Parts: sequence; structure tokens; C-alpha cells
Amino acid sequence: MVPNLGKEPPAARKGARRLPRRESALVWWALFAAIAGLALWLQSWRVALLGLLTWCLYEFVLVPTLCRVLKRQGHPCAERVRGRLFACGPGHQQLKNDALWRLAGLRNPFQKNGEDPETGGVVHSPYVRGRLTPADRVLILLAALGTVAVLVGMVYGFR
Ligand SMILES: [Zn+2]
Repeated sequence: MVPNLGKEPPAARKGARRLPRRESALVWWALFAAIAGLALWLQSWRVALLGLLTWCLYEFVLVPTLCRVLKRQGHPCAERVRGRLFACGPGHQQLKNDALWRLAGLRNPFQKNGEDPETGGVVHSPYVRGRLTPADRVLILLAALGTVAVLVGMVYGFR
């Protein structure tokens, strides 16, 4: 688990003044620590499972992070977004969706073939489109594994 403590690259900091302040990721990690502590105190794997589910949900849709879609020039997009599954706009969201499908080992069935959503031009190498940063990839995979673990735990727990 790599905690994202809200450290944003300098590119994001430049425009940060006009944007509303967001809560620190530390607040979230304090919540997860509290749930983990409670699970240990109660010796309850159900509470631990609940904590894991909360963490997965947090990584997918709640984490204050950056869009980080790699643009044509190779710089990751520095727009703020909430949740690793989401991007700053429809164009980047499409790139991110493609990358997420590829992460799952599949081809995006909704992909508009060979069209660059940023420019509308033809893309010759589909592998250049919408790469995820390694940290995002690892955390999305971990959260997906966590979700599977929660589902297995729920089925096992209700038998
Ligand atoms: Zn973006």
C-alpha cells in the first residue's frame, strides 16, 4: 500500500491558489487507521473487511488526486480530480477508460476506433493513448484485489 499523502507535483501547485483547498489525504488515512484499530480491538474480521471496502471505494472514487492522463507531449495532466477512475474532462476520461480496460487485459468495447479524443486526429499507435502512471496502476489493481477479497469474505461470512 502506497499512501498518497496529497503531495502534488509542482505543475499542479502553480494553479492551486484559485482552487478551493481540499482535505488532506491524511484525514482519510486517519479514518482507515481508526477502522483498523477498531477491528483489532474488537478482534473482528468483519470490521476489517468494512475498512478494506472503505479503502477500495476511497481509491476508486474519493481520493483527492490528479487526472494524470499522459498527454501527447508526455506530461501527465495536472488537473485535479476525485477518484483514480476519473479524469478531468470527457476527452481524458475516454483515454483513462481505454487505459483501465487495458489494465484489465481487455480492449475497450466502447473505444472510438483510431480517433484521438484530444485532437480528433487519427492515432497511429494505440499504445501511446492514455497510459496510467505506475502508482495509479498499482493502486487501482490493489483496490480491485481488495474488492474481490471483500466479496469473497462476504460470501464466506454469510454461509
Ligand atoms: Zn486531464
